[in-house]
Amino acid sequence: MDQIQLDFLGDLRRTHTCGALRASGEGQAVVLMGWVHRRRDHGGVIFVDLRDRYGITQVVFHEDVDAAVHKRAEEVRPEYVIAVAGNVALRGPAAVNPNLATGEIEVVASKIWILNESRTPPFPMEEQVDVAEDVRLKYRYVDLRRPHMQRNVVLRSRIAFAVREFLHSQGFLEIETPFMTRSTPEGARDYLVPSRVQPGSFYALPQSPQIFKQLLMIGGYEKYFQIVRCFRDEDLRADRQPEFTQIDLEMSFPQQERIFEVIEPLIERICAEAGFEVRAPFPRLTYAEAMRSYGSDKPDCRVPPMHPVEDLAPDLANAGMPLVAIHLPGTGAPSRKERDDLKAFGQERGLRVYDDAKRLDRDYPAQMAEIRRRAGASENDLLILATWAGEPTGHRPEETVYQACGQLRLYCAHKFNDRHKLLDPQCFRFLWVVDFPMFEWDDEEQRWNAAHHPFTSVHDQDLDKLTADPARCRAKSYDLVLNGTELGSGSIRIHRRDVQAKVFAALGFSDEEARRRFGFLLEALEYGAPPHGGIALGLDRIVMILAGESSIRDVIPFPKTARGTDLMCDAPSPVPERQLKELGISIRASKK
Ligand code: ASP
Repeated sequence: MDQIQLDFLGDLRRTHTCGALRASGEGQAVVLMGWVHRRRDHGGVIFVDLRDRYGITQVVFHEDVDAAVHKRAEEVRPEYVIAVAGNVALRGPAAVNPNLATGEIEVVASKIWILNESRTPPFPMEEQVDVAEDVRLKYRYVDLRRPHMQRNVVLRSRIAFAVREFLHSQGFLEIETPFMTRSTPEGARDYLVPSRVQPGSFYALPQSPQIFKQLLMIGGYEKYFQIVRCFRDEDLRADRQPEFTQIDLEMSFPQQERIFEVIEPLIERICAEAGFEVRAPFPRLTYAEAMRSYGSDKPDCRVPPMHPVEDLAPDLANAGMPLVAIHLPGTGAPSRKERDDLKAFGQERGLRVYDDAKRLDRDYPAQMAEIRRRAGASENDLLILATWAGEPTGHRPEETVYQACGQLRLYCAHKFNDRHKLLDPQCFRFLWVVDFPMFEWDDEEQRWNAAHHPFTSVHDQDLDKLTADPARCRAKSYDLVLNGTELGSGSIRIHRRDVQAKVFAALGFSDEEARRRFGFLLEALEYGAPPHGGIALGLDRIVMILAGESSIRDVIPFPKTARGTDLMCDAPSPVPERQLKELGISIRASKK
């Protein structure tokens, strides 16, 4: 890059942002500062689109207004940082740009300061341009200047502010909890922080503030919230990051409905911030209903539910297993190839798929008429039936079938979306899924795990199932779901020491292990713990959906890649031997 003479900002003061000026400002003397978005050199006239996060203003340099200033403007290139002083002028009718908020005016420059130059940016700033994500992440500070990233980051800030404003208005207190703490039980691996002063000991970064928010209830701070970072070392997927943000809250003396009464208007408020109107109350579905009707604990309710129909056509169901009707309206009859594809998809998941509705109509006319009536399916709709192909599996075998059918349902929904158009990203179908099972079977470890976390209350009627029938023991836990995505989950907690001990026992923790891991919580439960419950919502996912993005990386200013790497600052990275020594750590040679 040739060196050019740079100017000092001195005490030069910006009068307007690049998104502020309108026709009403005609004649005004202004000073703007920002980045050179585009420069067009028409010989005696140079146009510069000057950009900041508020917008773009056209600045024009006329050789015959000031030749020296015009000459200086010749030096600027995209992404240079400049200041200009000039006067607001109306554009001629033919030059008005209706796509730009400032499109009626331009600033006729009388002075220019080049405050900094820029290397040629690694990619253009225009939003239409597709750029490889690793390049975007390496030059994130440039990527963050692009209009769609700025919109996302601004939306995120507005949503965070709306959350604070709303929860404060409802009497919630914003209270911080430690980042350097003990292991918390959200089911992932912990990130560890070694202690220098106690070599060989480690803090864990919190997977969530779960235990601390419960301790705050015991401490008498009912109605707590926090917009807080959580850290989980788990295999990353498109919508996962090693650190992510939750809107975390907890209340004392609530029933499940009291929590919903806070969250529903909060969600209305958040959506309004993004320009969408949603209306509470949201439908409530038990976990069992969600599995039966959608084959998922996070149903996408934009697509019609499935219907168990084994009672109507028992001949078609594998003995004792569900027979499920999957129905999509308005698709027309699928082609042979489409039927083969969906059949293969179902078979790979263990299903026997009846893909030929015409043939079923012919062979089982009476039953099919009933099935069509139950599913609300007309002749012109996609209708397939599926049952399990083999032996029952799992502790809740019917669920295995529903789950596979649910995957087939979604596969069809996506495959035929160009015909039925149900998967509209701006159609928001929120719902609550309630009464989750308390336990999930862990095949690897051959034991029951807490489906939510081990501090979740058991359903009042299911207390004796804790040990007698853990597979059917329900929890007082709930998820907020939107269009097939889990946006948050929570529960009413255990507040009694004796019940907590029973749950630990059901989870196979010895007294000793329970005391070692959660002794301080067990002890706290002995000092007047009030009934309490709460929820945590995933801020990243909420902003992602409302921003119309498909990756949470597009709503996190500095995200990590799927391998957990920060490509910009190259983290994680090895540290000098001296630092390791201070921590009492030595690195074992890897086996590779
Ligand atoms: N701590 C839980 C989680 O992170 C949320 C809750 O139960 O409030 O999923």
